[in-house]
Amino acid sequence: MVAANDYVVHDPEQYKEKWNTLFGNDHPIHIEIGMGKGKFIMQLAASHPEINFIGIEKYSSVLLRALEKRKEIELSNLYFIRFDAEYLNNIFGQEEIARIYLNFSDPWPKDRHAKRRLTSKEFLSKYNLCLKKDGEVIFKTDNRMLFDFSVEEAKIAGWKLRDLTYDLHHSEYLDQNVMTEYEERFVAMGNPIHKLTAYRD
Ligand code: SAM
Repeated sequence: MVAANDYVVHDPEQYKEKWNTLFGNDHPIHIEIGMGKGKFIMQLAASHPEINFIGIEKYSSVLLRALEKRKEIELSNLYFIRFDAEYLNNIFGQEEIARIYLNFSDPWPKDRHAKRRLTSKEFLSKYNLCLKKDGEVIFKTDNRMLFDFSVEEAKIAGWKLRDLTYDLHHSEYLDQNVMTEYEERFVAMGNPIHKLTAYRD
């Protein structure tokens, strides 16, 4: 159980179609699904006060670790939710989100679990409902199987891809990169990081 405080939204369903009332402004909303300990989204929120950020994490034990860090920084543009993204459309209305970040999502290697992968066509259809028309999904992983699967699923679902790289840390996109906890670990191990942006026309 995550203790009540100012940074965690415990009843996210009540903000569906009115997240702007929580933030007190109409700035675009960017979310990270599966934020883990939250380093990435905290760094982005600190450097982009013109954007509202929501970090979503399925497990309380992991969210608690993010909260420990969150308490040390003053930010009015960042909230956390303990929530399973499976039910994303219960908390975000049509075109409510401008960008979705997926970082080092769980690979679910067994074929029969493919639907659970956060880049499956099933999840893309959830994102399709709550993303703005010009919204985008930005995905990073070191897992080649998951990356290839994600490219295929995006194509099947009719999404387009841009800024695709199989080696982010030796690419033109490195300048703007913000590292996640998992990314630091995998880069230290010498694993190439794959990245893509998916969007609809
Ligand atoms: N993004 C972080 C990073 O790059 O350091 C953490 C990566 S970790 C491998 C994946 C995280 O996604 C875990 O914390 C897990 O609990 C969370 N997660 C997995 N499935 C989820 C879902 N359906 N909804 C929300 N979070 C989920």
